[in-house]
Amino acid sequence: MYLKKNIKIYKYIMKTALSNKTEYELFKDFEKLSFDKFKSHHKYYEDLMGVFYTFIYVVPLCFNIYTLFYIQLPQFIIAFIIAFMTEGFLFVNSHLYLHETMLIDFQYKTISSPWAYYHHYVNQMIYSQIPFSYRMSADKAFLFLDICCYFFNVDKYVYALLYILLLIEYISHEYMHSTRKFHYISFNPLSSKFILIHYIMNELQRLTLIDYITHLKEHHREKSKNMHLTIDWLDLKVPIVCHLQELLGITEFKYFKNILKILNGTDEAIFVANKMNIKAKVEIFVVRCWFMLKISLIIYLLSYVRFYNSTPILPTLFIYNTVLRCIHLFVKYYIEYFNPFTLTAM
Ligand SMILES: [Zn+2]
Ligand SMILES: [Zn+2]
Repeated sequence: MYLKKNIKIYKYIMKTALSNKTEYELFKDFEKLSFDKFKSHHKYYEDLMGVFYTFIYVVPLCFNIYTLFYIQLPQFIIAFIIAFMTEGFLFVNSHLYLHETMLIDFQYKTISSPWAYYHHYVNQMIYSQIPFSYRMSADKAFLFLDICCYFFNVDKYVYALLYILLLIEYISHEYMHSTRKFHYISFNPLSSKFILIHYIMNELQRLTLIDYITHLKEHHREKSKNMHLTIDWLDLKVPIVCHLQELLGITEFKYFKNILKILNGTDEAIFVANKMNIKAKVEIFVVRCWFMLKISLIIYLLSYVRFYNSTPILPTLFIYNTVLRCIHLFVKYYIEYFNPFTLTAM
């Protein structure tokens, strides 16, 4: 099934393999072909993902906003500051995880984090072109986060704020990479281009909490060949603390490259490990475990924050989120199994 679905790509790769193209040029061809397949695949399921998004993100979002009606103002301010700082640490972690897997992928000519890879190195607009599919692509990470928060008994106010901030962070990236001003004009709150998103993002930009010009200039400066030089790890920047978070990002990325021995550019290391995909899978597995360990640790520390009159997250919300996320992931894997859209270049 897998081979049959990708026969066109294999034929193309075989044809170009006989040409005079360098390995990098061949990889670029593969990148383009697999991207087209990826995009049309997600475009086809975009409406379905919109339905999932409404139930999995919009409904809990409303619930979390409602929860916050019962918090007192001083508690709200403290909870907000804590959630905001935590969000940054969680985000740096997830972002590093994606760049680390991309770096491993690139060595082995695979694309195992397609959303991140295509966004960074093929088409930056991909998130805003198929927004519901993009927003749903984070479901596994949100599921893991929910499980951690529930089992470590995180305070429900802190959880509610963290949830809202993570969602804003996530959508801000999509917004930063879109033809902003003209698209987010819908008055339908369930539309991916809901006008409120535009106002929230504009306000964040005005407060310099997000800065899309720096993001495009700094974070997206490198092409895939130079992905090891990536900097500027945060999208949503908490004043002062963001410098510490950025430093953590830079330090971990440096040590990660040291371990992988990618110090003098991917140019030299590129494709040396051809056809060693088992090794790539092991490396990605280790990076994933490291990522989950750090997330668990952050949430564990967060669980010490307690507010008067508050309780841990409600089991109903947790069960609702978890069941729906599992259904979504099941449907996603079922569809992808029969319509694979990424593959190893050779
Ligand atoms: Zn990035
Ligand atoms: Zn970006």
